[in-house]
Amino acid sequence: MEQVVIIGSGISGLSTAFRLRKEGVKPVIFEKEEEIGGNIKTVKEGSYILELGPQTVLADSEVREFMRDAGLEPLEAKPESKNRYIYRDGRLIPLPMNPLSFLTSPLISFGAKLRVLREPWAPPPFKSEETIGDFVRRRLGEEFLTYIVGPFVSGVYAGDPDQLSVKYATRKIYQLEREHGSLIKGAIKKKAIGPGGKLVSFKEGLFTLVRNLAKDIEVKLQNVVLRIRRKDDRFILDTREGKVECRCLVVSSPAYTASYLLKDLSWSASLEFDKIDYVPVVVLHLSVPEGTVPEGFGFLVPRNQNIRILGVIFSSKLFESRAPEGKDLLTVYMGGATDREILNLSDEEIGETALRELKNILKTDNLEILKITRWKRAIPQYTLGYGKYLELAREMEKDHPGLFLTGNYLGGVSVADCIRHSKEVSERVIRFLEG
Ligand SMILES: Cc1cc2nc3c(=O)[nH]c(=O)nc-3n(C[C@H](O)[C@H](O)[C@H](O)COP(=O)(O)OP(=O)(O)OC[C@H]3O[C@@H](n4cnc5c(N)ncnc54)[C@H](O)[C@@H]3O)c2cc1C
Repeated sequence: MEQVVIIGSGISGLSTAFRLRKEGVKPVIFEKEEEIGGNIKTVKEGSYILELGPQTVLADSEVREFMRDAGLEPLEAKPESKNRYIYRDGRLIPLPMNPLSFLTSPLISFGAKLRVLREPWAPPPFKSEETIGDFVRRRLGEEFLTYIVGPFVSGVYAGDPDQLSVKYATRKIYQLEREHGSLIKGAIKKKAIGPGGKLVSFKEGLFTLVRNLAKDIEVKLQNVVLRIRRKDDRFILDTREGKVECRCLVVSSPAYTASYLLKDLSWSASLEFDKIDYVPVVVLHLSVPEGTVPEGFGFLVPRNQNIRILGVIFSSKLFESRAPEGKDLLTVYMGGATDREILNLSDEEIGETALRELKNILKTDNLEILKITRWKRAIPQYTLGYGKYLELAREMEKDHPGLFLTGNYLGGVSVADCIRHSKEVSERVIRFLEG
């Protein structure tokens, strides 16, 4: 019998396994794919380093410490990557980074700026739980939502601000209102409004992190788990290589997989988890001659611009050696909650659309597509009422001592969130093992 089995070798499963290993526990991971890493996929295409999934980690001191524990020194994005752009009415407008540039920026109208200044006097919420859209309209106004918050919601969740819950998807912003009564007042007191930390990766890309985490861990690749049953104080797993028993089980697969895995333990939780919405994302990697794009992180496109591209990251501007001499590497995102139909297009049609739109935005014909990657179920959406899923997960764990759930549908969607969540999960596993 195994002591601890972990299902899934994405960043959630691997971080949990790594932390347990450090405490002397020897977990075994079952992974259905032929490679570890889940969404984290770095591939080399000639002299280009392509991130097919996440590009960067927004690392605070805790996450950086974790990376160092894994024997890695994170590579910070170049300072110029602080510059971000929003595409509006045919041009890339720098995102204002301080109050003065905000007041002089052409990104939103004078009226919209006055509206933002009235934020401290915004009315209290009308409903017990609001969408990000309603929250921002109430506090900052429609234009701020369209040109600033909306694009960021696309950037993080590929999501729709009118679907996502402010309480669960942007918890820090929700807390600012609750603690300070105003975002502006709260931001001044805390000296920041966004999530803290620095954007990092590694010289050879993010796969370096998962490779290092897995170094000392037994991972059974191409070994899908099909079913979980409970027998006395043990879990019995049907895996590709037969039955496996364990006392302690960590399920770190996406919600739609956890749903079928957990159905023998709780039929109702299984039905609910299956309802968690994962939106599709298509990622295109393109090469352009150096000098085509400005220095910076990239740009986002508000949904009212009649453009299917959600945003573009200037990948080779963030980190050295992502593209050969004389070239820049761009990563383009399409799809998301507001354009699920993207999956109905062929690669050729997606490529043509991206090229046509980029030609207009960047004013160049010199664009070469390197790769197109489809994520049919990319990112879970923390929609209105999401608390019920978190509650169900807690109940399942309570009803089945020895069962632990983790993954980006529970503790936050970013890689950094998954790493932070693994700390809490691994501590609970240790407490369980110690009886
Ligand atoms: C296109 C894209 C871009 C992103 N960009 C960023 C970014 O720039 N920065 C950022 O912080 N985050 C980003 N994210 C989000 C982040 O990458 C993910 O939230 C995170 O990697 C999820 O990790 P996870 O371990 O929870 O899940 P996953 O990575 O999905 O891992 C789950 C693992 O479980 C395995 N599994 C599933 N079912 C079974 C089974 N039955 N048996 C065995 N194994 C199973 C899967 O094969 C997989 O390996 C992005 C995501 C996508 C898709």
